[in-house]
Amino acid sequence: MRFDILTLFPEMFDSVFSYGIMKRAMDNNLVSINLHNIRDFSEDKFGRVDDYPYGGGPGMVLRPEPLYKALKSLDLDGDTPVIYMSPSGTLFNQQKARDLAAKEHIVILAGHYEGIDERIIMTCVTEEISIGDYVLSGGEIPAMVVVDAVARLLPGVLGNITSVEDESFNNYLLEYPQYTRPYVFNGIPVPEVLLSGNHAMINNWRRKKSLEKTFCRRPDLLEKALLDDSDNMYINSLKQLRKEGKDEPHK
Ligand code: SAM
Repeated sequence: MRFDILTLFPEMFDSVFSYGIMKRAMDNNLVSINLHNIRDFSEDKFGRVDDYPYGGGPGMVLRPEPLYKALKSLDLDGDTPVIYMSPSGTLFNQQKARDLAAKEHIVILAGHYEGIDERIIMTCVTEEISIGDYVLSGGEIPAMVVVDAVARLLPGVLGNITSVEDESFNNYLLEYPQYTRPYVFNGIPVPEVLLSGNHAMINNWRRKKSLEKTFCRRPDLLEKALLDDSDNMYINSLKQLRKEGKDEPHK
């Protein structure tokens, strides 16, 4: 999969993509990330790419011409999503990451200052994505979030595909708690079932913990989760416990 990222600060991406899973994915030619400095497309001899907002107000706005030229230089076909990272966009989630992972090529535009000229959004951008209801100073970190979340879903990028299957948000459930050595830490032993070697029992325990955590922390997700009869029975028992004012360990 190829990502083209338009940014004022290409160097910011070096550290993030030079380690771990992303680096391995690039070394193995599973992912290519091409960084384009918007300033290289400036029409101004000083390399300026921003200007005052029409109508007044604070801050600066990225001018449309350099962005347009940068996008034109990519010679895109009509199928490539052109994503503008923006607090006004649709909230990013695991389903969106999965949808994007099915594409061969994605272009991401990282804004700065007060944002970009609206006419680029109207004529070149195919979707706006937000990574959360807060405002960051630039679109670089949001772009990294999207690239990382999408790239790790591509076949071959994670060594063990089952780690994606069990992860939080897959099937709209949060992941069960994880334990490693030592057996006792801060006076708390690892749950016995995890040492039993009985995989059916372990899976059953994990499923329940996953349901419990999601029920306590993100009940909104449960509405979309694929639940079978025994899951629903367990959720009902959790509801009953709540009615009785009993403890909810994951709160
Ligand atoms: N004036 C804009 C507003 O109120 O919506 C905020 C601009 S922000 C300071 C600069 C850039 O950071 C934006 O153009 C966008 O690319 C990026 N950005 C900031 N917060 C973001 C978020 N939550 N999700 C995605 N991109 C974000």
